[in-house]
Amino acid sequence: MARKQQTKGICCLCGSSVGKAAMTKHLLECNAKHTAEKKTQPAYMIRAEFPYDKRYWLTFDASVTASFSAIDSLLRNAWLECCGHMSEFSIAGKQSKLEQVLEVGTIFAYEYDFGSTTDVLLTVLATHEAPVSKKATRLLSYNTPLEIPCAECGEPAIEICSECYSEEGMPQAYCKTHLKQHIKVEHDNDDYSMMPIINSPRAGVCGYDGPGPEAYAKTQGKP
Ligand SMILES: [Zn+2]
Ligand SMILES: [Zn+2]
Ligand SMILES: [Zn+2]
Ligand SMILES: [Zn+2]
Repeated sequence: MARKQQTKGICCLCGSSVGKAAMTKHLLECNAKHTAEKKTQPAYMIRAEFPYDKRYWLTFDASVTASFSAIDSLLRNAWLECCGHMSEFSIAGKQSKLEQVLEVGTIFAYEYDFGSTTDVLLTVLATHEAPVSKKATRLLSYNTPLEIPCAECGEPAIEICSECYSEEGMPQAYCKTHLKQHIKVEHDNDDYSMMPIINSPRAGVCGYDGPGPEAYAKTQGKP
């Protein structure tokens, strides 16, 4: 798998497809357009990445007066939540408001689930003015879904098996042909552990099957 490959992402504000490196600049400009003449409040623009495969990434903003639990909720709802596991930020002062701890350039880590852990790396990219909202966070962009190769033949996979893991600890994915074969040979023709491929670094881990960032973005409504 080409892990160095830079992915494109979707801007939740305008729907454009933008490269990962160019997304910050795009979001700053796009947000400014969408917030003209609205009441605003200062917010951090933060990127979340999966450190072991950085083609998985999200950008969101968080009000500077929010707490770390607001970031926890966004990561759970858009990317990770399977069954209410514990989670933790590794940063000093995580009991305080964000503005007392974060500044542009701050890098910190987050762990979801201390058993089958999903690690997340967070980087504060910028500060900007976000529309005043009841919600302390807002999803701004997410990577376009990756093409996951079949564990047997490398062709595009259609489902993953939540019980069979690669040496790197990722659930194995299969194309149509090998999915059938896998269910037959490894699971006695029972497809209970097969799951749709969700656009998340936690896809299939502990049975995580979504909703994923696309569905989450829809619940936010129009900017
Ligand atoms: Zn945009
Ligand atoms: Zn779980
Ligand atoms: Zn295959
Ligand atoms: Zn399996």
